[in-house]
Amino acid sequence: MSETYKLFIDGKWTESLSGKTFESLNPATGKVNGTVAEGGGEDVDLAIKAARKAFESGPWADMAPSDRGRLLNKAAQELWRKADYLAEVESRDNGLPINETKYIAIPVMIDVLEFYAGLANKVQGDTLASPAGRFNYTLKEPLGVIGAIVPWNFPLMLTMWKLAPALAAGNTIVIKPAEQTPISILEMVKIFQEAGIPDGVINVVPGFGKDAGDALSSHPGIDKIAFTGSTSTGKLIMQAASKNLKPVSLELGGKAPNIIFDDANIENAVNGSMFGIYFAQGQVCASGSRVFVQDSIYDDFMDSFVRKAKKIKVGNPLEQTTQMGPQVSLEQLERIEHYVAAGLEEGANLVIGGERFKTENDGYFFTPTVFENVTNDMTIAQEEIFGPVLSVIRFRDEEDALKKANDTLYGLTSGLWTENLKRAHRMVKGLKAGTVYVNTFSMLDSAAPFGGTKQSGFGRELGIQAMDMYTETKNVWVDLNDEHFNWYGV
Ligand code: NAD
Repeated sequence: MSETYKLFIDGKWTESLSGKTFESLNPATGKVNGTVAEGGGEDVDLAIKAARKAFESGPWADMAPSDRGRLLNKAAQELWRKADYLAEVESRDNGLPINETKYIAIPVMIDVLEFYAGLANKVQGDTLASPAGRFNYTLKEPLGVIGAIVPWNFPLMLTMWKLAPALAAGNTIVIKPAEQTPISILEMVKIFQEAGIPDGVINVVPGFGKDAGDALSSHPGIDKIAFTGSTSTGKLIMQAASKNLKPVSLELGGKAPNIIFDDANIENAVNGSMFGIYFAQGQVCASGSRVFVQDSIYDDFMDSFVRKAKKIKVGNPLEQTTQMGPQVSLEQLERIEHYVAAGLEEGANLVIGGERFKTENDGYFFTPTVFENVTNDMTIAQEEIFGPVLSVIRFRDEEDALKKANDTLYGLTSGLWTENLKRAHRMVKGLKAGTVYVNTFSMLDSAAPFGGTKQSGFGRELGIQAMDMYTETKNVWVDLNDEHFNWYGV
C-alpha cells in the first residue's frame, strides 16, 4: 500500500512550494512505497526560518534543560512503543532484514536518544584559573540551527546520531533525508510531534541532494552542517558550507581492513568477518570489506568462510528467517556489478557470488560475494563498493599487514583478530582509523565516539564527545576590581 508524505516544516505537514513529488521505492519489490513531497531551495529556506524562530523564542528557547531531557525521554518512550512498527517501516524503506532493524537499528537509535536526553541537563562550562581581580569562566551554548543531511543505509539511526545531541544541547534542526529513504524519518518525526516537541524544533525537507541538500549546506541561515554520506558528496558539502564559513562535521565512506592473524580463533574470526561484510547487505560505512588473512591459515579461513557465506539466506527483508535483504536501489545494484566486473578484469578470483539473486519480485538482490587473490592496487581493494562484496588479501607478518591495511584513502574503522595481547595493542596503535575492533567487528554503542580520519571525514558522533559538535564555548571575563582599568591613563 502506497501512502503520500509531505514536508514537515514549523510543526505542519505541507506540500512543497513547487508542488513536485517523487516516488520512494521498496527495494525488495521495485514497487512504489510512498509518494513524497519534493522539497527545494525555497522549502529549505522556510524550514530554516522556522527553526530559527523556534531557537530564538517560544517554548523551546525558554525550556529548562531538564525539561528538554524529559521531553526527549518522552519521545523515546513513544518510539519504544512503536519500535516494531518503525522496524517494519525501515525495512520496507531501505531493505534491511527485519531482524536487523528490529534488534539492531531501531533499539540502537532509541538508545541514542535516551543517552542524549540524559545529557541535556549536564552541559557545563568551566570556571578557569583567573588572574587576580578577574573572574573568568566558560559557557557551553547551543549553536542555533543545525542542518543535517543523511544517507539511506540506516536512515533512522544516522538521523538520530545528529538529532539527539543537537536537541539535547538546545539547538533546532532541519533534516534532509536521502531521496531513496525519506519515509521512515517522516514517520519518526510524527512520533516526536505526538510527544510534544514544539513547532519548528524539528523540520524535515525530503528532496534531492543537488537541490534541497545543496540549498541546506550553502544556506547562510544555518549554524552548522552535520553530514553522513559519501566522501565525494562530503567534499561538495564542505565547499558549499565554506561560502558562509559554516562549521561542518563529516561522516564519510570507509574501506575497513579486517586482519586475521594465524593465532586467532578462526571460527570467531570467520563469524565476525561475515557480520563485518554482510550485515546490512554490506551497505555499511564501517563494513570490513577488506579481509587480510595471514598466509599460514589462509586455506582454513577461506574454507570455513566460503562454506558459511554460501548458507546466508537472501530474500524478503520482512521475513524473520531472512539474513540478507536487497540493495537499496537499482543504481546501487548496478554499481556493485560494475565493481565485480572490475575485480574480474583486474585479475581477482571470484570464489562465490558476483551476481544478482533472483526472487519472484523485481527486487535489487545480490548474492554474498567473495573475491580472492586480490592485491591492494586493485579497484575492489581501494574503492568503497557498499555492497556484499568481500576482497580477501594475503599477508606475511604484522608489518606487511599494517602497511597494506593503511594503504587506503579511508580511515573509518578497522579490525584485527589475534589471541596475542601485545600484538593486538601494537596493531591498535598502528592502524589509522577512528575505531579499532579487536576480536569483534561492527560494534556500536551510544557512549562510544564514532567517526573517521583521512578521507573518512572528521568530527565524532555518539558519546559525550558529540555534545561538543553541537555547542559553542563562550568565554566570559568579569572585572572584580573596584579600581577602574585605564591603560591610557587619559
Ligand atoms: P551520498 O553522499 O550520495 O548521499 C548522502 C546524502 O547527501 C543524501 O541525503 C543525498 O541526497 C545528499 N546529497 C547528495 N549530493 C548532495 C549535494 N551536492 N549537496 C548536499 N547534499 C547532497 O551517499 P549515499 O549513497 O546516500 O550513502 C552512502 C555513503 O554514505 C557511503 O559512502 C557510506 O560510506 C557513507 N556513510 C558513512 C557513514 C559514516 O558514519 N561514516 C555512515 C553511513 C554511510
